Amino acid sequence: MTSTTALTYTCVGPSCAWPTATRATSCHRLDAGDRTVLVDLGHGALQALRAAEAPLDRLDAVLLTHLHLDHWADLVPLVWMRRFELGASAPLPVVVPEGQAARLRTALEALDALDVLDWIALTELQAGLPPTGVGPVAVTAVALPHSAVLTVNAYRLQVADGTTIVVSGDCGPSDALPAFARDAALLVLEATVPEPLAGHLTPGEAGAIVAAAQPGRALLCHYLEPLGGPAELAIARAACPDVPIAFAQPGERVPVAPRPATTPG
Ligand SMILES: [Zn+2]
Repeated sequence: MTSTTALTYTCVGPSCAWPTATRATSCHRLDAGDRTVLVDLGHGALQALRAAEAPLDRLDAVLLTHLHLDHWADLVPLVWMRRFELGASAPLPVVVPEGQAARLRTALEALDALDVLDWIALTELQAGLPPTGVGPVAVTAVALPHSAVLTVNAYRLQVADGTTIVVSGDCGPSDALPAFARDAALLVLEATVPEPLAGHLTPGEAGAIVAAAQPGRALLCHYLEPLGGPAELAIARAACPDVPIAFAQPGERVPVAPRPATTPG
């Protein structure tokens, strides 16, 4: 990839644990030139990707933030589609958080879908390591608490010209996420619930993370219907008045440019 390759973020699925008539569950698409990486692949996402004519036969990788169904359910039909409809021969690189490869195997076994493992190249990405090359991006991860069982990887993805996008998984208020997302060009994070709930963020809590991280802009996703309206956006913006922030819309494409270098001192 060259340093002039444009980076585009697309919100494939902005819904939380269940899809709506128009919103798939969690899925984020990054296009760097002719390379494509997905972060999460929840139910409804595959249909949305097909409707958008995404290049599913030549995906570089799918990174899963964690193994709740709204973040990976469509991995199985994607793999079957690539194998039997598209004739893809190369295994699809799939990245999961540390310790979750065995969980994925157990889940696939329960679903009588162990053959999926023959057609993916499954790796774990440990949080806190130096950047790892995944397709066109250099990826780092931070582990965030989510449920009693699962931690979540938030991913920081950087292309050659330095443009950086951070995609959080599901998490509650966190000091680690703002530090991890500091100065990214785009921060995509959840704003799931109207009132505080363990393992998730309200619009106000998400806004506070954006204010601490100071990305170039922020998109809120993983929101319950009918959240995501003007009232919730006003709450998020009140917590973060100096960074552009909006609720991601299904299919919304956002060109992402490098942030201007800051002047020391
Ligand atoms: Zn979720």
